[in-house]
Amino acid sequence: MKRKRWFLFIFRLLLFTSVISVFILCFTIFIMQTNAKKNIDVSQMEIKLVDVALQEKIPIEKFKGQVSKVVYLTFDDGPNESTNQILDILKKERVSSTFFIVGSMVNEKNENILKRIVEEGHYLGSHSMTHNYQLLYKNKTYVHEMLKVQKIIQDVTGVESTLVRSPYGSYPGLIKEMRDDAVKNQLKIWDWTIDSLDWSLMGEPEKILANIKEQTKKDIEVILLHDRKTTAEVLPKIIQFLRSQGYVFKSYNEQDHFPLNFWNDERL
Ligand SMILES: [Zn+2]
Repeated sequence: MKRKRWFLFIFRLLLFTSVISVFILCFTIFIMQTNAKKNIDVSQMEIKLVDVALQEKIPIEKFKGQVSKVVYLTFDDGPNESTNQILDILKKERVSSTFFIVGSMVNEKNENILKRIVEEGHYLGSHSMTHNYQLLYKNKTYVHEMLKVQKIIQDVTGVESTLVRSPYGSYPGLIKEMRDDAVKNQLKIWDWTIDSLDWSLMGEPEKILANIKEQTKKDIEVILLHDRKTTAEVLPKIIQFLRSQGYVFKSYNEQDHFPLNFWNDERL
């Protein structure tokens, strides 16, 4: 009898230990799995955040070896009463772009718009002082005017800016003599690949959108727009369309400069 009891005691002890062991093992596995799952979730979230940041900032063709289409939205003729409205939309849509400002438009009341452009990650370039064809191309004040706007940009924002946009486009006005002068003064000059014709379509936002849709074809597009009320109105639809076509939005970046002028002058 005594031996049988002893045996029963040992049996129960073993059973108890086994149950406890299995329980501890299961619990450990459960905890490990939960932690692993947490880690995966966090790292995936981080990748997503990095994706968004990179899309806006670095040349997308270098991102994970994949080529994406890139679009540069450019806004000319500001600063004016529409510039802040455009900046609000770009901020909401998380889109970077490029503004080419006219020096004579800048005054003490609106120079905070220049600061805002820079602070919100857009590129600030020059678009002459006078916007006057005769003066710029016949009297050849082009380079002088651009340098003057660059000085204004630097005084107001502290940023040294090299890219300029020629009023009315660089062709045919910007003859070789002036381009040589531009090169000597380290100017870079961008025309565009898509003309939205928005300046001539006040109150006709759908026509602006249609113009862009019709011309959007290449892997890299530079769209000419202006700081205008109708342009601001249709801007969310323009962004939506370009996104649906697989484009990512970039602001001009001096390190990734490529020549884009109607003269095909590789120096600019
Ligand atoms: Zn202009």
